[in-house]
Amino acid sequence: MYLTPSLSALFVTALFVFPSPSAADVPGQWPPLDQTPSLAPQWAALVNVSSIPNAPVQKKAAGDCSQTAVYCNWSCDNCKRPGDVTICPGQNDWGISYDDGPSTYTPALLDYLKKNNVTATFFIIGSRAFENPDILKRTVAEGHQIGVHTWSHPYLTTLTNEQIMAELKWTETIIKTITGITPLYMRPPYGDVDDRVRSIANQMGYKVTIWDVDTNDWLSDNNPKFNRASITNVIKKAVAKKSPTGHISLEHDLYPVAAAEAPKALDIILKAGFAAKPVGTCLGTKFYVEDSNSTTPTPIINSTPTPSATTNSATETTSAVPTATDSSQSDASLSTDYLSSFALFVTSTFCIMFFGLII
Ligand SMILES: [Zn+2]
Repeated sequence: MYLTPSLSALFVTALFVFPSPSAADVPGQWPPLDQTPSLAPQWAALVNVSSIPNAPVQKKAAGDCSQTAVYCNWSCDNCKRPGDVTICPGQNDWGISYDDGPSTYTPALLDYLKKNNVTATFFIIGSRAFENPDILKRTVAEGHQIGVHTWSHPYLTTLTNEQIMAELKWTETIIKTITGITPLYMRPPYGDVDDRVRSIANQMGYKVTIWDVDTNDWLSDNNPKFNRASITNVIKKAVAKKSPTGHISLEHDLYPVAAAEAPKALDIILKAGFAAKPVGTCLGTKFYVEDSNSTTPTPIINSTPTPSATTNSATETTSAVPTATDSSQSDASLSTDYLSSFALFVTSTFCIMFFGLII
């Protein structure tokens, strides 16, 4: 009769003591995945709130477009301001961009890009970076440009100023933690940007980057009737059309069909004679804050703790590791972590079983 509670306690202890492997990969405390995070207090001063245009917070996705003439909402009528990036200026240049990763489909795409000696821009979701830090590290190591694409992929015009800042800053921070670089380009999910979002992004140092060739490859997600050829058809049309400028195309490495079609789309672009490159390269600007200091980014993942101040409380998805010790994330020290956990597990189990037997 004493065995059952002891076994239950043992199970609970095991769950508590052993960290999940993914959680141990990115040190620091992180917001819940795929939810709009709170703004850490130390980031509030990054933006001068009084200079943000007073565009209304939209009540729903791609909602009220009645004021786009005033606040220039791209998702309403493709309205853009002079600082917005939508094309590569050089007629022969093609900015290749993949959004919403890193995912398990990204490595095969990286293999193909490497084989063709092409580098591209990847706009990263913070929550996906938390799940796939090694893929993000590989992407940077192979020379691709990394941009910020928010933490949870919301329509930014529906968020408050603070929420917009938090979406960008948490994503920037996890990218910095994993790779050592701080991106200078951001892409608003769905191209949803107005003067309020634009002002916040610009004040935080970002170039707002959209596109002029949309493959709509995301429509393939969970859609068995999706016409795969529609992706390459968009690219075929774009390469055939005469244009005074080059292009920036939008594709996604989060969905299996979209990622699988990406090589075919790239082949069409290359065969048409375009120079495929990252957006930052076609614009001739720095990719990262660190570019002026060093050409070799140094990941801080093994040396510096991530920001500890956050108003968010940990949840299951934050599984995210309460601020681990600095060096605990290397493979060797991970093994040490697990050995320590095992020792703690054995001790705890012994105590619980002993306690269970004497009551
Ligand atoms: Zn996206």
